[in-house]
Amino acid sequence: MLTITDLQASVDDKAILKGINLEIKAGEVHAIMGPNGSGKSTLASVLAGREEYEVTGGSVDFDGEDLFEMSPEERAAAGIFLAFQYPVEIPGVTTINFLKTALNEIRKSRGEESLDAAQFLKLMREKAKLVNIDDSLLKRSLNEGFSGGEKKRNEIFQMAMLEPKLAILDETDSGLDIDALRIVAEGVNKLRSPENAVIVVTHYQRLLDYIVPDFVHVLYKGRIVKSGPKELALELEEKGYDWIKAEVAATM
Ligand code: ADP
Ligand code: MG
Ligand code: MG
Repeated sequence: MLTITDLQASVDDKAILKGINLEIKAGEVHAIMGPNGSGKSTLASVLAGREEYEVTGGSVDFDGEDLFEMSPEERAAAGIFLAFQYPVEIPGVTTINFLKTALNEIRKSRGEESLDAAQFLKLMREKAKLVNIDDSLLKRSLNEGFSGGEKKRNEIFQMAMLEPKLAILDETDSGLDIDALRIVAEGVNKLRSPENAVIVVTHYQRLLDYIVPDFVHVLYKGRIVKSGPKELALELEEKGYDWIKAEVAATM
């Protein structure tokens, strides 16, 4: 589904990603971990097409297409979903209206008809129940005045509604209490299918107790320096990152 080859990117002329290689197949969940400032959010942002990040080398193939030939809107319509680390607020636009537009864009790109109001409402009720989100939240301006937990829950609700092919969750666990964490994890686990893939960016092993990844990658100084099975996350929880930093230093 997604093949990242020697991806390099910079912000303000500072090189951040220094040659990322990663292959993600449909049905897989990949966790990306690593110390602060490693470039995890930069990688997520580059994949989503945020414009402050400049791609300086390498390529990304999404479902046989050159990702960098697609605008951020085209990426979203093609089924890439990025749950931001700090979800944006959109005053005057309710979550419902935002989602109606986004969903119909996605359907259009798949050659499907738009949902009518009744169908949309039915879907919304079903998914709201799934992630245990309150109706009143959905009628308010997107993310405006939402608490941290409400924003995260809303992200997962959006994901459940849009059923993306590739979901990228960037530190969706930060600032969540244990109940909210479970809801996030449940939302992701319900999305899991042989057709979908998920990239979970996280600092902590905690979330991975609930979302069990197929692969764990450690990003450090703009490179993936270690990959392994889910047990790697446990090892990192136990031992921290110093041993990996030492390994990297030894090979330089
Ligand atoms: P992580 O998510 O792993 O903590 P980031 O991708 O957020 O790491 O950041 C990697 C590096 O890029 C850091 O040194 C950070 O300061 C820098 N960086 C990221 N985004 C920006 C930005 N918009 N402007 C300037 N520097 C940035
Ligand atoms: Mg960070
Ligand atoms: Mg980050």
